[in-house]
Amino acid sequence: MSRVVTETATESKLKNKEKDIKEATNSKNLDEVLEKVKKVDNTCSFTKCKTCTNDFAIDCKFCSGRFCTSHALPEIHGCGEAVQREEKRKFLHPEPKLTKDKHEKAQTKLNIKLKQMQLERKAKQGGKGKK
Ligand SMILES: [Zn+2]
Ligand SMILES: [Zn+2]
Repeated sequence: MSRVVTETATESKLKNKEKDIKEATNSKNLDEVLEKVKKVDNTCSFTKCKTCTNDFAIDCKFCSGRFCTSHALPEIHGCGEAVQREEKRKFLHPEPKLTKDKHEKAQTKLNIKLKQMQLERKAKQGGKGKK
């Protein structure tokens, strides 16, 4: 009779930065507040990780967390599912820009052909006409 708690805890793996910052800003001392906020913002978003991301941080576009190099991979800090969803979405709905480019290319090809045909026709007509 034991339920296995699985992936549902993904979000709690991340630090609640907003809450931390709010708590930090409760202080009356501005310097202290700034220092605290800075601290909150400059550590890896992975809960157990204390790595300072001051020098090098990687922002995750899925959870908007900021991670150190060891936790930057979405699969590692719990965004694996989001990545898979994104890949699937990209696969099912390819970037519209790409298709537009293709379409435009096809259009120019057609235009070139049309122009060629027009020129050919003109040339033919010119040869036929009497002076
Ligand atoms: Zn993430
Ligand atoms: Zn980390």
